[in-house]
Amino acid sequence: MRSVTLQDINKTYLDKNRKLTPVLAINDFNLHIDNGEAVVLLGPSGCGKTTLLRIIAGLEQPDSGTVFYNDRPLESIPLRERGIGMVFQNYVLIPHWESRKTVGFFLRLRDREHEVPAHVETVANITGVDIDRLLGKFPRNLSGGEKQRISIARAFARDLELLLFDEPFANLDAKFRARARVELKRLIQEFNVTLVYVTHDQVEAMSIADRIVVIDAGRIVQSGTYQELLRNPDSLFVAQFLGMPPINTFWGRVNQGEWDGSYMGRARLPARREDGREVIVGIRPQHVHLCDSAVGIPAIVERVTPYYAEKFNLLEVWLRKRRWKIQVSMNQSFAPGDTIHCRLDWNMALFFDAVSGARIR
Ligand code: ADP
Ligand code: MG
Repeated sequence: MRSVTLQDINKTYLDKNRKLTPVLAINDFNLHIDNGEAVVLLGPSGCGKTTLLRIIAGLEQPDSGTVFYNDRPLESIPLRERGIGMVFQNYVLIPHWESRKTVGFFLRLRDREHEVPAHVETVANITGVDIDRLLGKFPRNLSGGEKQRISIARAFARDLELLLFDEPFANLDAKFRARARVELKRLIQEFNVTLVYVTHDQVEAMSIADRIVVIDAGRIVQSGTYQELLRNPDSLFVAQFLGMPPINTFWGRVNQGEWDGSYMGRARLPARREDGREVIVGIRPQHVHLCDSAVGIPAIVERVTPYYAEKFNLLEVWLRKRRWKIQVSMNQSFAPGDTIHCRLDWNMALFFDAVSGARIR
């Protein structure tokens, strides 16, 4: 059992391409991860996810701050007691080692090589492939997806308390990826392993996380379950980063206490703001409903994109001189040029200060 605490972590790199200008990769980062919790670090490319994971693993020294495993500072814990299984992005396998040697390394050192087959079977379940046949191969004879399977096997074949995964399924086929997530989730629950999982993919985050920590520019911007983040974003960044299809956003100004989006009309603000302030309103594609022509706002369909797996059509339409994304059921068929009528669910609208991006509530 293992909890992980990150306390006041800062990390700066010197950018070699820009005359060694310092880049603040991690900025005053504080996070506690419980025993057995599955936490996903979610954020755009370059936001510091890999750096954080390397700091948690002890592979990277922070400039300041401390990592604790349970209540012990990481640097006071000998390597052999750390109990970490890691799968990194573009994991490099040792070229002159057969996969069997890579996977069995930890257990062989401890004269427990007989435990290896059980671990290999575990991983075969996760990645949906019989990896026995990969064990006799060298890295140069493995595809990207196969290398990734070997690194996952290597991560599991040890005394494990903490799994650190950096986009581990990126090189697996799409059909295996969904299965791999479900299987991983089941295993970490079964073995009570703590998981820190890095991804930029919200679907992956949603299916694996007990808690999602959203990161932007080296800082935590918000954390919570997928549903909490979707329904209650604290910022425009989170509102735009999560949600599928992405949220519709429109610019306006406060006018006599109301949001005024010119062609869009006016809407009541959830809290007082002085006139003239710039405010962005966000309405998710799920919160625009088709309705009767007598009461609805007319819109012209520009494009129709079917999402078969999720069973909806995405309509891109012109409505009040703005381009909108609207999610509709697959039962109705639409074509470009059709006129439809819509009702906007203003109760579900989200308002953000256009300058700071902070939610107005
Ligand atoms: P992510 O994994 O979220 O894509 P990274 O942790 O890899 O982000 O990088 C965070 C920031 O730190 C980026 O701006 C990246 O360019 C920079 N960075 C990462 N590693 C190094 C390095 N070794 N030297 C210089 N800059 C780095
Ligand atoms: Mg990365």
